[in-house]
Amino acid sequence: MHDHRKLGRELQIFDTDPLIGAGLPYWLPAGAAIRHALEEYIRELERLAGYLHVYSPVLGKRELYELSGHWEHYRDGMYPAMSAGRDGEQDTEQDTEQDTGQAVLRPSLCPHHALMYRSRAHSYRELPLRLAELGGQYRSELSGVLGGLTRVRAMQLNDAHIFCTPDQVEAEAAAALWLIRQAYRALGIEPLRYRLSLAGPGQKYVGGQQMWDRAAAILTDLLASSDVRYEAEEGEAAFYGPKIDVQVAGSSEREATLSTIQVDFYQPERFGLEYIGPDGGRHRPVMVHRSVIGSLERAVGHLIDVHGGAFPAWLAPVQLAVLPVTDAELPQAEHLAGQAIRLGLRAEVAGSQDGSLGARIRSRRLVPYQAVIGAVEASAGEVSIRLRTGEKLPAQPAGAALAEICAGCAAPVMDPRDQAVSSGAGSSLLW
Ligand SMILES: [Zn+2]
Repeated sequence: MHDHRKLGRELQIFDTDPLIGAGLPYWLPAGAAIRHALEEYIRELERLAGYLHVYSPVLGKRELYELSGHWEHYRDGMYPAMSAGRDGEQDTEQDTEQDTGQAVLRPSLCPHHALMYRSRAHSYRELPLRLAELGGQYRSELSGVLGGLTRVRAMQLNDAHIFCTPDQVEAEAAAALWLIRQAYRALGIEPLRYRLSLAGPGQKYVGGQQMWDRAAAILTDLLASSDVRYEAEEGEAAFYGPKIDVQVAGSSEREATLSTIQVDFYQPERFGLEYIGPDGGRHRPVMVHRSVIGSLERAVGHLIDVHGGAFPAWLAPVQLAVLPVTDAELPQAEHLAGQAIRLGLRAEVAGSQDGSLGARIRSRRLVPYQAVIGAVEASAGEVSIRLRTGEKLPAQPAGAALAEICAGCAAPVMDPRDQAVSSGAGSSLLW
């Protein structure tokens, strides 16, 4: 296991500055490229799985979090309230605006999504309604626990809330678990363990015992029917319900939660959420909170820990380095890199000003594809590809080489509908 806190800085993926503050990393171009690819991947995975993406503000009135229960149960993890703004139309010397109350940086996205759901009436036919957002959330972590990208004070969360009928909860939680396992496969990461996080003694929880028992039973059944090993642990639940947490090894000795699935009967109650059932009556939906890859910060930190900078090709900050043997091949190298960029690849030219060919190959050892262009290749319009494993492919026409690289850099997004086919009656269904 590598240590992303050191390596991430060496690879120019992220850094911090005391003037911005501890726990507030910024993303350098290489890190932003990885994050962007990850965001695109997760949005596409969710789109195929029937999620609808939304955006919501990172601030909310204090009353919103009083309603959700965060203010009472989670205040230690929240930043202090600030003025929500001033009333009035013009900023004049003698203005007499009044404060419009207090706002807080949100500690989670759930309350905003609950309000979006509540903004209009819903029929059971619309459910499950899956609202997803890659959105900012803020935690007032103590400086002593901050570290690299794993524990931060401002994070971008891959979040979603599924509003569904009680009968749909198990299937939705199972589908979320499938997404998590798909994503881990695509990212080349292994869970350390699955944790069934239950309520524990001596902590503050909300809602009745029956609610908790029902939610815990659903998650226990799901884990029992999946082929994953898990451990139940008391005292790790969210204040509003039990959850499945997927734990990964950290670069320090601590493990971290990357993904989560939570069943929540409580917030729908607090927000008075409803849907009209087939009987024409009003019913209470259930909220399934889930995150496939957690925060982008923690996910990328873990990817650096695991891959040590040799990211899967679809995530690599630079996917193709074009290396002209001498300056004479520079125009062909620039032409090839230009074509690659137009095809959507992240490509760069490393010319002789960067050192000898050997030195350039070594300094780009983490780049998945290197295209070497010498005099022979340049005159034939061909390219020799080197893989970062050291393997050299035979020279081939530039177009064919680019097609091969594009195929190797495509994000492996799986469609859940394919899974439904393959887990059904077998491949005969394809006929
Ligand atoms: Zn939530």
